[in-house]
Amino acid sequence: MNCRIVSMAILAMGLFVCDSRAQSKAERKLIEQLRADIGYLASDSLEGRRTGTEGERKAAAYIVQRYKQIGIFPYGDMYRYNFKFYGDKEPANSSLIRIGDNALKINKDAFPMAFTAEKRVYSEIIPDIMEQNTIMLLPFYADSAEADNPHFDWEKAAYARTDSAAKQSATGVLFYDNIGSKYAPEFNGKSELERSTIPAAFISNKAYMQYVKALSTDTTTVTIPIELNLAIKKIERYGNNIAAYLDNDTTYTVVIGAHFDHLGYGEDGNSLHANAATDKEIHNGADDNASGSAAVLALAEMIKKSELKKYNYLFLNFSGEELGLYGSKAFVKDMGLDSNKIAYMINLDMVGRLNDSTHALTVGGVGTSPSWGEFLEMKNKNFKINIDSSGVGPSDHTSFYHAGIPVLFFFTGTHPDYHKPSDDTARINYMGEVQVINYVYSLVELMEEKDKPLFTETKQTTVGKTKFKVTLGIMPDYTFQEGGVKADGVTDGRPAAAAGVKPGDIIIKLGDNEISGMQTYMQALGKFTPGEKTTVTVKRGEELLVLPIEFMTK
Ligand SMILES: [Zn+2]
Repeated sequence: MNCRIVSMAILAMGLFVCDSRAQSKAERKLIEQLRADIGYLASDSLEGRRTGTEGERKAAAYIVQRYKQIGIFPYGDMYRYNFKFYGDKEPANSSLIRIGDNALKINKDAFPMAFTAEKRVYSEIIPDIMEQNTIMLLPFYADSAEADNPHFDWEKAAYARTDSAAKQSATGVLFYDNIGSKYAPEFNGKSELERSTIPAAFISNKAYMQYVKALSTDTTTVTIPIELNLAIKKIERYGNNIAAYLDNDTTYTVVIGAHFDHLGYGEDGNSLHANAATDKEIHNGADDNASGSAAVLALAEMIKKSELKKYNYLFLNFSGEELGLYGSKAFVKDMGLDSNKIAYMINLDMVGRLNDSTHALTVGGVGTSPSWGEFLEMKNKNFKINIDSSGVGPSDHTSFYHAGIPVLFFFTGTHPDYHKPSDDTARINYMGEVQVINYVYSLVELMEEKDKPLFTETKQTTVGKTKFKVTLGIMPDYTFQEGGVKADGVTDGRPAAAAGVKPGDIIIKLGDNEISGMQTYMQALGKFTPGEKTTVTVKRGEELLVLPIEFMTK
C-alpha cells in the first residue's frame, strides 16, 4: 500500500518471533484467525469500508459469513439491518439558475450557495445599476488578493455580502467570478451556515463572460432577465449494522460490539492525512476498527464454545461510527431494544496497537456501574490500565450509555497512523490483541457470577465531536492527565505541523489561553477563526517553546 510499510512489516515479524515463545496453542490459533479477519477487512479490495459503499457491504457479508461459520444465529430474522442517515448537502434537482434564455449547468457553470434561501425570484436587471427590489448581480471577489488566496473563507464573505444585500432590499444575489480565480469555489456540501433570507447563487467567470458581459457594451444598455429558483437537499445515505444472537433463554442480554466502518478514501472529511481530498488513498483502518471487529468475532466464538449461560449474548457490528455513531444510535433507537433487559455493553474500538513498552490499555465507562470496580481490581499482568470514568466517549458505547446501560470501552490508544492511510495490517500487535480479548473474556466470566450490574450516570469528562471553525491538526492523547494536552500525533500540512509542533509535545497555552486539559483546550480552540495568527506554547521535555501559528479553514 505504501513503501513505509515494508520496514514496519519486518519489525512486526520481529515482534511475532519473540512473542511466539510465550504463545499457547490456543493463542496461536486465535492469532491466525485475527490475521485472517483483520487481513481481509483492512485489505485494499474493501476500499476503506466507508459507510454505504460496496466495500462496507463486502465487509458486512464477510462478518455475517463468519457468524454462520461460528454457529451463531441472526438477531431476529436477519443478520443485517440497514439504517438511513443524511450526509452532505447538494443542490436539489429542481435548482434553476437562468440568465436570459440560458439555464446554467448546475455544478458546472453555476451553483446555489449552500446557505441559500429556498425560493424563486425573478428580475430584469441592468448590469452595474442597482435598483431596489431586484436580484443583485455582485462581483464575488472584493479584490485580486481574495482571488489569489487559497485560504480565503469565501463562504463566510459571501454570506455577509448576501446579508448586506438583503438589508439593501435585494430580492436575491447572483455572484459572479469577476477575476477568473484559479481557486474559484465549488458547492460546499459540508457548509454549516444558517440559511440566508434571500436566494444566493454563484456563476463562473466563463458563464459571466458568455451570458452577461457579452451582452453589455459601453454604448448600449441591455436588460437581462435573471431567474433563481434554488433548493438544497441533504444526500440520503444508508449503512448496514450486523446483529448475531446467542440465545440462552434467559432474561438479560449482554451486548458486545465494535464498529467495522472506516473512512474509505477520506471523502467525508474525517481523514487526518494532509492531502486526503486530492491523494485518494485507501484508509485501510486495520486498527480502526478491523481490530475491534475481529475481536468481537473472537469473543463470539469463545462464548459460543463456553458454558456461559447466565445471560444471552448479542454481538453487534456497527457501521456509520466514523460519521457520528449513526449505526449504534440507529440500533438503540429503531431495534425496539428494551434497555432494561440489557445487562451491560462492551465496546471494542482500536484494540490492535497495544504498545509493548507501555502496555497501556484505556478502559472507558468505568463510572457507569459500581460493578466495574471489582473487575478492574483483579490482577492482570499484561496491562497498565488508564481509567476513563465517563460513559460518553468518542465511540459507540456512548449510544448505549445514553440509553441507561452500563458500558465498558476498551482501547489500546492512539498512534501516528490514526485516521491515515498508514493504519495498516502490518502494524497490528496480534499478541497484544489476544491479551485484550482474553482480558475482556475474563470480565464476561466474572459477570456470569453476578447479577445484572447497576447503572450509574457519570460526569462528562470526554469532550465529544464538538464542531470548531479551526483545528490544530493534532491527535490528542486522551489519557494524558498531567496538565496540558499531549499531542500523540501531528497531521502533516496542518497548522500545528506548520508551526513545528512534534508528537510528544505538551500544549500548555494557545494565545493567552492557559491549557490545563482537554476541556480548556477545546474552549481555547473555540475562540479562534480561520486565518487568525497567534502562538502556541508547548513543553518538549524540559524545554518550553513558544511557536507562531496560523489557523486555517478545516
Ligand atoms: Zn475512527
